[in-house]
Amino acid sequence: MPSQEIDMHHDTDVIIVGGGFAGITAARELTRRGIGATILEARDRLGGRTWTRDTALGRELDLGGTWVHWIQPHVWAEITRYGLDLVASPELDTAYWRAGDEVHTGTADAMIDLLDASMTAVLADARRVLPQPYDYFPLSDEIKSLDQISVAEKITEQDLDPQQRALLDGMWAVNFSGDPTRAAYTQALRWCALSGGDWKLMFEACATYKLAGGTQSLLDAITADAPTADIRLNTTVTGIDETADGVTVTCSDGTSLHGRRVILTVPLNILGTIAVTPALGHGLSALAAEGQASSGVKVWIRVKGDVGRFAALADSNAVLNFVQYEYPLDGDSLIVAFGPRSGLIDLDDPRAVEAELRKWRPDLEVVAVDSHDWTADPLSGETWPMLAPNQLDAVAHAARDTTRRTRFAGSDYARGWAGFIDGAIESGMQTARQIITELESEN
Ligand SMILES: Cc1cc2nc3c(=O)[nH]c(=O)nc-3n(C[C@H](O)[C@H](O)[C@H](O)COP(=O)(O)OP(=O)(O)OC[C@H]3O[C@@H](n4cnc5c(N)ncnc54)[C@H](O)[C@@H]3O)c2cc1C
Repeated sequence: MPSQEIDMHHDTDVIIVGGGFAGITAARELTRRGIGATILEARDRLGGRTWTRDTALGRELDLGGTWVHWIQPHVWAEITRYGLDLVASPELDTAYWRAGDEVHTGTADAMIDLLDASMTAVLADARRVLPQPYDYFPLSDEIKSLDQISVAEKITEQDLDPQQRALLDGMWAVNFSGDPTRAAYTQALRWCALSGGDWKLMFEACATYKLAGGTQSLLDAITADAPTADIRLNTTVTGIDETADGVTVTCSDGTSLHGRRVILTVPLNILGTIAVTPALGHGLSALAAEGQASSGVKVWIRVKGDVGRFAALADSNAVLNFVQYEYPLDGDSLIVAFGPRSGLIDLDDPRAVEAELRKWRPDLEVVAVDSHDWTADPLSGETWPMLAPNQLDAVAHAARDTTRRTRFAGSDYARGWAGFIDGAIESGMQTARQIITELESEN
């Protein structure tokens, strides 16, 4: 097997840059086939954009990726493999939604009903355009043309009243963790096609079922299944040089490592922080410089008393535009909120967060807040990756390019559920499988 034949020219077979779900999945796949894998991770922990930790709210919570679903086949296979349990977010009974200065209230079902016709219209073509949602590359002329359109442009085409428009715009701002004017319509079609063309199922997949032990439980299970992986934390990669006989990875402390392949899993928005030679082609450097569409925030909030199982939505201009009740805690309520733009309020300031919540519900009193600003974090630069218009071709090409020694994996490059834990696992798996085939045939 390749790892037993690592010669004096190679320190390891495969160097994996980044220890999020893509990196650790790839390491498991490689090492289980006897191929040497070294993960270089800049943080002092694995997990990347997932992070289960004790919070100021008085319980452990997921600061990053959280919800999973059985229609996401790769994460579901892992949940099955390791026998993990799910918990459901509570069924919501009340909803508050803002359109202009007006606050409307009704049942959660009433809000969904208001969204239904316009959401269905926007996504009507999903299954026709993407009958096999993992298989769309090379892009057809129709997909290329649709990829020029933003979700906001598609919303503008709809004949909607102000409430419907605010809800539709707000829902897509949440889905993209960003501004719908920067959100590629093809990405919306991809999510819906993966959900069988059913937007309500798509919505359920995004925010309903959590791992009972947090995302840490899945991370721990995969990591334990890769006992021979060489995991080096606090190790920041600064350069990748492809050479005739392999690839050299340089770290910020001046050390370097030589391997046969590199799997680069860092988020697109910080790809430019690593100098890769030969330079990244096929539009990827330009894409990294432009950045993908997500730019938002997620904040956990402890609110005084039992405030009921409610959701709240507002359009993409709001600082926080989506809220969902999650847990009771010692007589208080824990809720989670999202906003499309990082940097607009101090998320560590309970009063600032309270002021945003009171735009829907003046009765809410914030006790504590906790969050991590992934958009401002130099090791992510984005939340869940969502492509902007005209980016699909470059990303799809990079994900499939086997001509270089540097391979791209991560949720940003997933064929299917890009933006999700599922996509990170899928791409880690795909990339590792390809490298296994290559290295086994080289020996
Ligand atoms: C707020 C938020 C909410 C989310 N909600 C959900 C959800 O509910 N459900 C869901 O499925 N997904 C969700 N996601 C998305 C999901 O968490 C990510 O898509 C997935 O975890 C990404 O995994 P990855 O391995 O592709 O990338 P990452 O997890 O980002 O891993 C990349 C790793 O590379 C490391 N790195 C970066 N630069 C360097 C360097 N120079 N040298 C070495 N290491 C480096 C990083 O520290 C990181 O650990 C959410 C994400 C966020 C931020």
